[in-house]
Amino acid sequence: MKACSIRVRGVVQGVGFRPFVYRLATANNLKGWVLNGEKGVEIHVEGEEERLNAFVRALQEQAPPAASISELNVADTQTLGFPDFSIRESEKADRPTVRVSPDLPACDACLRELFAAENRRHLYPYINCTDCGPRYTVILGLPYDRPNTTMKSWPLDDYCDREYHDPLNRRFHAQPVACRHCGPSYYLLVEGKRSNDDVIAGAVDLLRQGRILAVKGLGGYHLACDARNREAASSMRERKFRKEKPFAIMVPDLERARTLVDLKPEAEELMTSIARPIVLAPAKVDLPEVAPDNSDLGVMLPYTPLHHLLFSAGAPEILVMTSANRSSEPIAYEDDDALDSLAGIADAFLVGERPIARRVDDSVARAGANGPVILRRARGYAPGAVATLPITHPLLAVGPDLKNTITLVVNSQAFVSQHIGDLDHYGAFRAFEQTIRDLTAMYEVNWTDMLIVHDAHPEYVSTRHAKTLEGAATHAVQHHRAHVASVLAERGEWVKRVLGISFDGTGYGDDGAIWGGEFFVGSVKEGFARAAHLRSAALPGGDAAARFPVQAAAGFLAQLDKLPDLTSSPLGFPARYQAAVELVHKQLRTFTTSSMGRLFDTAAALLGFTRAVTFEGQAAIWLEQVARKAKPVEPYPFPFANHELDFRPLLRSVIEDRSHGRAIEEIARAFQLGVAQGVASAARLLCQSHHLNTVVLSGGVFQNEMLLEDLARMLSNDRFAIWSNHGVPPNDGGISLGQAALAAFGQFNH
Ligand SMILES: [Zn+2]
Ligand SMILES: [Zn+2]
Repeated sequence: MKACSIRVRGVVQGVGFRPFVYRLATANNLKGWVLNGEKGVEIHVEGEEERLNAFVRALQEQAPPAASISELNVADTQTLGFPDFSIRESEKADRPTVRVSPDLPACDACLRELFAAENRRHLYPYINCTDCGPRYTVILGLPYDRPNTTMKSWPLDDYCDREYHDPLNRRFHAQPVACRHCGPSYYLLVEGKRSNDDVIAGAVDLLRQGRILAVKGLGGYHLACDARNREAASSMRERKFRKEKPFAIMVPDLERARTLVDLKPEAEELMTSIARPIVLAPAKVDLPEVAPDNSDLGVMLPYTPLHHLLFSAGAPEILVMTSANRSSEPIAYEDDDALDSLAGIADAFLVGERPIARRVDDSVARAGANGPVILRRARGYAPGAVATLPITHPLLAVGPDLKNTITLVVNSQAFVSQHIGDLDHYGAFRAFEQTIRDLTAMYEVNWTDMLIVHDAHPEYVSTRHAKTLEGAATHAVQHHRAHVASVLAERGEWVKRVLGISFDGTGYGDDGAIWGGEFFVGSVKEGFARAAHLRSAALPGGDAAARFPVQAAAGFLAQLDKLPDLTSSPLGFPARYQAAVELVHKQLRTFTTSSMGRLFDTAAALLGFTRAVTFEGQAAIWLEQVARKAKPVEPYPFPFANHELDFRPLLRSVIEDRSHGRAIEEIARAFQLGVAQGVASAARLLCQSHHLNTVVLSGGVFQNEMLLEDLARMLSNDRFAIWSNHGVPPNDGGISLGQAALAAFGQFNH
């Protein structure tokens, strides 16, 4: 006889871990107990040594699908002679430090019951168990118990109660458990009239008629319509004031997804993963109203029982499922607000009675050349901890103003919030304040100990808000260093010295200029020194130029002599260009920039993208997709000297080839390849002179898959390791994590 005391940390609460431990212990004839402790799951087991070893192995190998073990400590202890194995009541922690599970997709066992005629939960849209269902979107407070969830208004009936209390049942302590007799239900609202009968059939009818339906989901409302009905999809665009940004689509299963997009095995793995993100992949079909002028489609699989019910009742097989909001506003998640704000958009509402505790959008991901890339981190991932930082006091990093997320560090664990959005919209700013209150309250953080971190940009609303918060201290971290640190934080690499390449559209530099084409040398622990950058250009209008590629072009092209007349054919730049040129010449409202994002905008303008962009990064995405259609070409020159990448020969080549009538696909490809080659040679030289073997790539520009592929190919020949983001987005959604990491080591601006 032997005894062990075991502590398991990670995502192990609210994911069916204790019943799993109970079943495993009973199967191995072990005695003792399991409980949810302050810092994770605590287990005491005793029995035959061989059985104990098998138990510990199985703990790791057979854990429930939604569990993720970050730490498992096993220590020998005294045998105490327990008569059986039991699940003990949770200890109330002084301060909760457990990890809240992200929301989970409906599991196979629940789906089987959902469609089994004799089952008590036959066709019940809120079916769930310890392996599946809502978590983060129903939790009102910790510990995670039913009275602390949005299910508190629905007492369990005898049937559900028995399952809830039976350790051998898969609904043992499943907090959101319910059935149609005791739980919430869905109803349909058409022109203000509520109907409770044949709700799913009614919703399906509306969708088949080409109507727009607002559907309440896990973390907010979706707007749904038949993606193959051009009229429906285009009227959705009109009513939402969303001109060109692609809509996500949902299909019933993987087979159907394969007919729409080209899926690599890694992309299929992402699409079916427990997070069920929207996966971006090359389109095989043309759905012009869904993704105008875009060769990729964003596709996801059903994840709530309701989605499965809609498809099985005959909903159109390709559904537009886009966040329900007006352009740029945060997703609607409260019923009153949804009914009000979507009144002119949706023809009808499919409303679920269970309240949503907080808004959480769908996540967006892609199987990239260098591994999975998360482009928007929200449902299914948030609020998972993505790093363990070596600090004991709490830290709040408020992120930047675009694609904002916040990171809260409690007991060394860095929790990254769901995607919040662009804070220049008032609704998003409100969501930002709310998320700060929400996460700090959930973890009962003591504000007087809190280190607060913000971007170095003095005019960011996130910066201004951070300065109103009362903590122990408030510091700034520079934007592009935070990008590099976000990659290293995901890996827990604090002392590793790297070359960090940080390319994006905009960020406040040390000298007050707009940075965005930066090379750094250093580590998270010692900080990062700027080692090189893109040659500076003028930027008329400053950050506002991000909306107009020709405006960025006016600044960059001002450094080229003997320019042809760009306002005439074939370039046909609009009047805005000439006005911007005037600003540059008179040095009015003109800033200095080393932004790689604006260089891509300039190239896109020269290739014909002369209109305004309607979403961030649009011109660069367009350029990359044009380049994908080209046959192999030679790269344009992009020389590196005196710590500068010189864009002049690069843009000169674009203009010359364009004037000579070369196909824009080839020019775009030669530009992309030229950028990669210039960056690769800069990286080689810098790594050599600083004795480095690892290159870190981060920033929104590295969402450009072709650039990442080209660079990886060029640099791996020199046996450099290339690290990019996998846990948080390479775009500004990853900044808050990087801020937290640098601040944890005292690397803030002084
Ligand atoms: Zn289930
Ligand atoms: Zn019930």
